[in-house]
Amino acid sequence: MDEFMQAAIDQARRSLDNGGVPIGSVLVHQGEIIGRGHNQRQQKGSAILHGEMDALEDAGRLSASIYRDSVLYTTLSPCSMCSGAILLYGIPRIVIGENRTFLGEEALLRERGVEIEVLDDSTCRELMTQFIAAYPDVWNEDIGEP
Ligand SMILES: [Zn+2]
Repeated sequence: MDEFMQAAIDQARRSLDNGGVPIGSVLVHQGEIIGRGHNQRQQKGSAILHGEMDALEDAGRLSASIYRDSVLYTTLSPCSMCSGAILLYGIPRIVIGENRTFLGEEALLRERGVEIEVLDDSTCRELMTQFIAAYPDVWNEDIGEP
């Protein structure tokens, strides 16, 4: 297992342990993790803290040159909100744990020149499959579905 995806999975588990959606993310710059996060919608009653957004928030304000030399790891395919942040800051490469339980805006990201790698990792899939089965309403709220 890639050490950075493992760090993102650790974040996802941390969210699950605290009653949250098990999605985690890390921002990596030149081989070092500069931001870690996980979905905080349940924990913080937040409308915007998906795993990727939480990792970007944890990294804090950065110059464009840092984002453009970074890789974002996320356990699940990024939704339209998180993909918007990726495009806004010009993050050039995204590594995705899995995209079977939810397929985000990968086509848009690719179209805009973002390099995407999907690991199709079974741990990431199991975390989501079990969570969605147990808490379908929480999950639907997370992705803006009625
Ligand atoms: Zn998102």
